[in-house]
Amino acid sequence: MRIKILGSGQDDGIPHTGCYCDICSKARKHVEHVRLGPSIAILDSREGLCYLVDASPDFKFQLDSIREEISETKRKGRVLVSGILLTHSHLGHCAGLWHLGKESVEENDLPLYCTPSMKQFLSNNYPFSLLVQRKNIKIEEVFHDEGLRLGALEIVPIQVPHRDEVGDTVAYIIKSKKRVVYVPDIDNWTDRIMEEIRNSDIALVDGTFYSKNEIPRFEEVPHPPIRETISLLRNADVETYFIHINHTNPVNRKGKESKYVKSKGFKIAHDGMTLEI
Ligand SMILES: [Zn+2]
Ligand SMILES: [Zn+2]
Ligand SMILES: [Zn+2]
Repeated sequence: MRIKILGSGQDDGIPHTGCYCDICSKARKHVEHVRLGPSIAILDSREGLCYLVDASPDFKFQLDSIREEISETKRKGRVLVSGILLTHSHLGHCAGLWHLGKESVEENDLPLYCTPSMKQFLSNNYPFSLLVQRKNIKIEEVFHDEGLRLGALEIVPIQVPHRDEVGDTVAYIIKSKKRVVYVPDIDNWTDRIMEEIRNSDIALVDGTFYSKNEIPRFEEVPHPPIRETISLLRNADVETYFIHINHTNPVNRKGKESKYVKSKGFKIAHDGMTLEI
């Protein structure tokens, strides 16, 4: 079983729309600096299963990056993933769902796992409601702290604080041989989620910003800065990767910030990275 990072960027990825900063400009020239929107694939080649967590705006390119793996899956749909789990309703995490509809591949009953409040949001708002009505997706509810069995995997959604304008937000604990926590978006670390991270073998955690003064509107879109997270987890025995990286984050450069992260034993995820779980 393995996890492949399909997108290590913040919702709009890198390059960011309309931004020509040095980081975005470099990503436009060199593909290795691109970070697609936030998504991972959980791949079980033995059972022929492939689950995505979140459907980013870069969905179709992300499917390309696992085309060999998904051709092994047993599901007889057109997109050929076994299902999609959603963390929350921000567009960088669910906009890619439109590709399942009539304008694109017209999927048939693709299992979509989300919380009851997300289900309500998707069922009542265009364009997602059309996917439900046309049976492109089949929504399966998941509940906070209740394990969900998907083949050999157990997945547990944990509620996390985030700007929940239209629905709640969850992190996922992914239990295989290793215990993995995936928390791409969170406003601030809580004792509960810190405990979940400390109890895991691998943590994929919100690394949107390096520091609080990176963007002027930080208070409107809060995320725990990488420096603080490193300090909180300094004694934890967990392999930690920062994900959901914003284009303003200096860890996108080979500078003192990247060196600092590495020197403390933490890692910055990149697209295409694979982790055995
Ligand atoms: Zn996000
Ligand atoms: Zn930029
Ligand atoms: Zn969000």
